[in-house]
Amino acid sequence: MASPDVLDRIPRARGAMVSSLRDLCRIPAVGPDNGGTGEGEKAEHVRGLLKGLGLKVERFDPRDDRVPGKKRPNLVVRGGKGPRLWVLCHLDVVPPGDASAWRCDPFAPTLVDGRLYGRGTEDNGQAIAALLGAYRAILDAGEEPSRPFGFAFVADEETGSGKGAKFLLESDVFGPKDVFLVPDRGASDGEEIEVAEKSLLWIRFTVRGRQAHASRPEMGVNALRAGAYLLTLLDANLPKRFPRSDGLFRPSTSTFEPTKKDANVPNVNTIPGDDVFYFDCRVLPSYATKEVLAAAQDLAGQAARTFGVRASVDVLQDESSPPTPVNAPVVLELTKVLQKVRGVRARPVGIGGGTVAAPLRRKGYPVAVWETTDQTAHGVDEYAKLDNLVGDAKVFATLLLGGA
Ligand SMILES: [Zn+2]
Repeated sequence: MASPDVLDRIPRARGAMVSSLRDLCRIPAVGPDNGGTGEGEKAEHVRGLLKGLGLKVERFDPRDDRVPGKKRPNLVVRGGKGPRLWVLCHLDVVPPGDASAWRCDPFAPTLVDGRLYGRGTEDNGQAIAALLGAYRAILDAGEEPSRPFGFAFVADEETGSGKGAKFLLESDVFGPKDVFLVPDRGASDGEEIEVAEKSLLWIRFTVRGRQAHASRPEMGVNALRAGAYLLTLLDANLPKRFPRSDGLFRPSTSTFEPTKKDANVPNVNTIPGDDVFYFDCRVLPSYATKEVLAAAQDLAGQAARTFGVRASVDVLQDESSPPTPVNAPVVLELTKVLQKVRGVRARPVGIGGGTVAAPLRRKGYPVAVWETTDQTAHGVDEYAKLDNLVGDAKVFATLLLGGA
């Protein structure tokens, strides 16, 4: 249990954590897949902060010719010996989107009513600043972490983690009995511990008929009509074929959403020969994504036979990860700490989105995804609440000092 001294120091370190978060936000760190120059400068900055805390920083930097320096940075700190509690944060941020829609310059953080606005303030700067603040408070109280721990500050979380967490997994950075806290998603009261993610399946449907003049439909095969039929067939049937509900998740059922639509003919008087559209499917872990794919193929076959078209089904993304058990020690310990330090009664939840927990869980690691946020990540006017910096730092410090 954290000593009262450590926990008392954290609210007093609020100003220091805020200025640390401001400094982080001023360095954009957009990955090259999103048109940016990568995380190099931000990693150097964080490395300096870690060294200032007396921590030895290891680097695991995969090559990437698209960024200055031709490497993507991953910073790792390992303390103590034995199975570790890792706290894994990410350095990269998403682009601001329409910068003119923001109340401030997205990379010139602005403090209004206890919220620091700027791209990357919530996602994932808040966690970095709170973690370093927690460690600083422990040192200032003359203590040190009482358990083996690891900090990882990774690149490339926003575009697939291939040059980030997945690279660390391939580099044998983690021990077989290690456990993870990923402070990269949470509720505004800190009550949600994410332990499970729906499988993600992106499907493209391509319907091919025959183009013709709109005045001579008998000469063509209208792909749009067949595609529209297929779309509504999928929309009506996929939820019926995969009806299970799991109260851990919100929403509690699998979801099957038609989303993207490719343009077809530019003019109104042509019967289109092709129709291409996409589904975003978020599937409960109790179903295999290949079952959903088989159902999609079956329905595409029905549409093809009905309209005399060819219909093909392509998978653009197919990612599943096993849930972390709700009674995994890292989940139970975090639950206890939240009760003790924050008076919060936490509950495990499953989500439809994907986090960096997925590749870790696929390798068998238990992962609790938790922090306190209003979920403004990726939006316009993203912000971090300063109270959450303090509240989350208390939780990190307590965990590093051995839990509740
Ligand atoms: Zn994030």
